Amino acid sequence: MNYRHIYHAGNFADVFKHLLLTRAISYLNQKAKPYLVLDTHGGIGRYDFATEEAQKTNEYRDGIGRLLADDHRPAFTDDYVACVNALNNGSADPAHYPGSPWLAHALMRTQDRLVVCELHQQDAVTLRKNLVTLGDSKKLQILAPQNGYQALSAKLPPNEKRGLVLIDPPFEQVDEFDQVTTALEQGLKRWQTGSYAVWFPIKDPVKIAAFYDAVAAIPDVPKTLAIELMIRSADEAKGLSGCGFVWINPPFGMVNELNEILPYLTRLLAQSDGASSDYRWLVAES
Ligand code: SAM
Repeated sequence: MNYRHIYHAGNFADVFKHLLLTRAISYLNQKAKPYLVLDTHGGIGRYDFATEEAQKTNEYRDGIGRLLADDHRPAFTDDYVACVNALNNGSADPAHYPGSPWLAHALMRTQDRLVVCELHQQDAVTLRKNLVTLGDSKKLQILAPQNGYQALSAKLPPNEKRGLVLIDPPFEQVDEFDQVTTALEQGLKRWQTGSYAVWFPIKDPVKIAAFYDAVAAIPDVPKTLAIELMIRSADEAKGLSGCGFVWINPPFGMVNELNEILPYLTRLLAQSDGASSDYRWLVAES
């Protein structure tokens, strides 16, 4: 396990992922009934841009840096920006950045429940150290070190009967897309009505097409959306050019909102004229 998220925290892919995460939680918050957020690949929860690792790449400058510098941010960025600002006393030049479990914890309510997994030994220790500073006002369970894919069997279906599973692997292993598909299949067998958001990097379009086909072929898979953001065209070989979500049972309101969110993110995060975004149903609503 070589992947460490600190090198990439706050980059364009995190802005895409974390903005949609905050929107999904805001839709969950529209009903009083409690929900579960299961974050299978939690990372370390909170990132420090002054570290040698973050400074080495400075990727956050073309991600959250651009968003904070925009004077005309749309209202759908408010929750996300508020969480980032809360860690940075509102400074436009952020020193700290909230990871997915931190954002989920900040936005959930006292009746809701967050379960976070992290497998990397050292990151598991850091995750615990970071999340302990959040106190115990909300229901939080940290499973670390723990394989997040196993939590799909162990923790589903939730007693709350509603919620979100975020699956955000590092894609270091050649069979990671297969592992995700298997995990989704197992999760859906236990909890068919859950919302499952799988983030993925777009490096090889052939692999992505195969992943889409594999998800669509899961028996009785509910409605599933594919969302993609490219900050440059895929053939410009300059590192990661794009990323996406496969989202099973996406929050209803969020789908319409993508018509505003994706064009905004494309303009904000573009690194060449080849930037683009799109969404489409892989499995339509029946
Ligand atoms: N979700 C985090 C966020 O948005 O702030 C970032 C997660 S990072 C992309 C992926 C993390 O998954 C890494 O910290 C890595 O150590 C961890 N990881 C890798 N394989 C795992 C597994 N099978 N189960 C749980 N965590 C795993």
